[in-house]
Amino acid sequence: MESRWTQTREYLSSLTDSGGPWPRSNVEKLTDPNYFVTNALAAVQERIQKLIWSKPQNVFNVTLAPHWSAAYCEWPDYCDCGTQGTTKIGHYQVDGEFVPRKGYEDVIPLVRPTLAQLASKRREGESQ
Ligand SMILES: [Zn+2]
Repeated sequence: MESRWTQTREYLSSLTDSGGPWPRSNVEKLTDPNYFVTNALAAVQERIQKLIWSKPQNVFNVTLAPHWSAAYCEWPDYCDCGTQGTTKIGHYQVDGEFVPRKGYEDVIPLVRPTLAQLASKRREGESQ
């Protein structure tokens, strides 16, 4: 119950942030969903990290990609998860070292190639 009260207070203060005080005297705001739908009520779904082999670069790219369900979002008017796009945040070299993309140094990679994948790509590189 304590955490629900904390979440409720955060939600109410997010309304204050998005357009002045709690709208007891502003009836227009009471009927405007854009006023009530804030990130404190329901944050836009975070993108997930994906590992993708890039043959031309000989690296495993780490990207942020929309969750598969973003394509089926039922609230396109209030949620931009369907337009998030894919962003590269870094790559793993075949020796296993992670190289963050400039500007994304603070993002911790949560996916990584397995030792077997790295060994396999090193062997492929040597045989060419
Ligand atoms: Zn959405």
